[in-house]
Amino acid sequence: MTQITNHMPTEELQRLDAAHHIHPFTNGDELTAKGARIITRAKGVTLTDSEGNEILDAMAGLWCVNLGYGREELAEVAARQMKELPYYNTFFQTTHVPVIALSERLAQLAPGDLNHVFYAGSGSEANDTNIRVVRTYWAEKGKPEKTVIISRHNAYHGSTVAASALGGMSGMHAQSGMIPDIHHIDQPNWWAEGESASPEDFGLERAQQLEKAILELGEDRVAAFIAEPVQGAGGVIIPPETYWPEIQRICDKYEILLIADEVICGFGRTGSWFGCQTLGIKPDIMTIAKGLSSGYAPIAASILNDEVAAVISGCEFNHGYTYSGHPVSAAVALENLRILDEEGIVERAGSETAPYLKEQFESLGDHPMVGDVRIVGLMGSFALTPDKSTRAKFASEAGTVGFMCRERCFANNLIMRHVGDRMVISPPLIITKDEIDTLIARARKALDEAYEEVKAAGLWKAAN
Ligand SMILES: *Cc1c(COP(=O)(O)O)cnc(C)c1O
Repeated sequence: MTQITNHMPTEELQRLDAAHHIHPFTNGDELTAKGARIITRAKGVTLTDSEGNEILDAMAGLWCVNLGYGREELAEVAARQMKELPYYNTFFQTTHVPVIALSERLAQLAPGDLNHVFYAGSGSEANDTNIRVVRTYWAEKGKPEKTVIISRHNAYHGSTVAASALGGMSGMHAQSGMIPDIHHIDQPNWWAEGESASPEDFGLERAQQLEKAILELGEDRVAAFIAEPVQGAGGVIIPPETYWPEIQRICDKYEILLIADEVICGFGRTGSWFGCQTLGIKPDIMTIAKGLSSGYAPIAASILNDEVAAVISGCEFNHGYTYSGHPVSAAVALENLRILDEEGIVERAGSETAPYLKEQFESLGDHPMVGDVRIVGLMGSFALTPDKSTRAKFASEAGTVGFMCRERCFANNLIMRHVGDRMVISPPLIITKDEIDTLIARARKALDEAYEEVKAAGLWKAAN
């Protein structure tokens, strides 16, 4: 079979890529010197590159290919929809069948009275929508001064100017600046920041920062709190068990809106349909994207509860995207949800795959460089540490050792991501037990090689 993507030698493609393509979250000069890896096709959990390497994708792309690669049904639905109605907007008091059907399905799947869907093209846009929704909600309720949204340091809510300000990534803030009325509290990362506190006490303390912030900023100023049920891009930070119940108590007490950013946690990632179900949270608004279409087409949304939707409906909401509810993306998402449900993929991920993955993943904890192995459903992480007994960080700049480890994974045909010196996984939900065994074997080999490399480079040293 001729692959149009393979019509040139790898180096030629790399040269062209470097000449005309700017990569996200990448140092361009470093990449040009090295040459990008060219992915040509994928099936199941396996990617193939232009050199013919078969790589196990333990990140499901960017946390999104929940269904795995290569499902023909999604391609067929997209082709059929493109022929029938490739595009129409939903601005002019119009609608279409894919968006009607998808909205009904999402209302069924989403817990409680989260029944009303506003579409976007990406998770960042959906969070931008959320900022407008909560501010409009309070303005309509006669409290226009309630505009502050509280978020967390090291949260990830997207990369547009508003979404990155909402998120808590300092590197992003430094480049794009902030928007008004966003306030950050600390994250519940016990391993890195808990010092001598017990995880339980630490979880409570971090949650109570929300109450402190509300009291300091003034109850009459705070509109909402936003958080990922489990921080993803921040390094798969699973909060202590005391954390979420206390956050929920505080949101209820002060009647501030709770936004669960489910962009990663949604659609089976944590072992249930939504992270808020696994973590026992009752959000007023959910952000969804990624697994909604398993990445096959760009689509995202905010799901509002009955009360918020009713208030927003009372005014003309001056907001929308050309591709809000795009018919092709909506049709693909609907087909993705059908397969996830009818084939029992979400169900099996939680009841069978997650326990097996947990057991195997946690076995990596006996490696000399690995501490704090944590996993919920099919998202997990561990810390790379020169001394797990003291939860030590490396003396080298954060991410130095993590990057070395990621490179060894890549060399062993395994995609694991590093966030600083934490390694994370988030494989497609359809990963089999055999594939999990391969994942763990490759990870162990990569860790052994990285360990040798770290020692040889004189980096096996704890920070003071
Ligand atoms: C990826 C992500 C986003 C942003 O989604 P994009 O589609 O990249 O804009 C927002 N929130 C969370 C939790 C994410 O992981």
